[in-house]
Amino acid sequence: PPDVEALGSSTWTLLHTMAAYYPERPAPSQMDTMKMFFEGFAQHYPCWFCKDDFQKSVAANPIQVGSRKKLSQWLCERHNEVNEKLGKPKFDCSKVFERWLEGPPN
Ligand code: FAD
Repeated sequence: PPDVEALGSSTWTLLHTMAAYYPERPAPSQMDTMKMFFEGFAQHYPCWFCKDDFQKSVAANPIQVGSRKKLSQWLCERHNEVNEKLGKPKFDCSKVFERWLEGPPN
């Protein structure tokens, strides 16, 4: 089976970086493809228990693709739900761009 921890931290790096570099004013086609990316991701993420909870989280909190800020905040909240479940500290979502757009790893 996959290494859930290593897979998780590399996946979050990809997802948060994609959100941080998503356009501030996306075109309709960019909103569509980002939605489709997350639909496919939620179905194919290769950790079955992670995937099941992530699908529920996305069903309860529809993806926000209207802007870079909206997508980044939405993803930060989804990640915080996982952090909470695992007993990890919550991340301050006002700092997502410092962490994923501007700055090096903490
Ligand atoms: P990670 O949680 O991997 O975080 C990596 C870095 O992201 C942190 O160092 C921090 O700088 C930054 N960060 C932390 N929180 C946020 C945030 N809210 N917003 C932005 N940046 C942040 N593991 C399980 O055991 N059970 C699960 O059900 C589970 N579900 C998962 C679902 C998904 C969709 C993904 C991608 C991963 C899931 N994981 C799950 C893995 C888990 O979230 C962690 O990736 C793993 O435990 C390694 O944790 P870590 O301490 O390296 O930090």
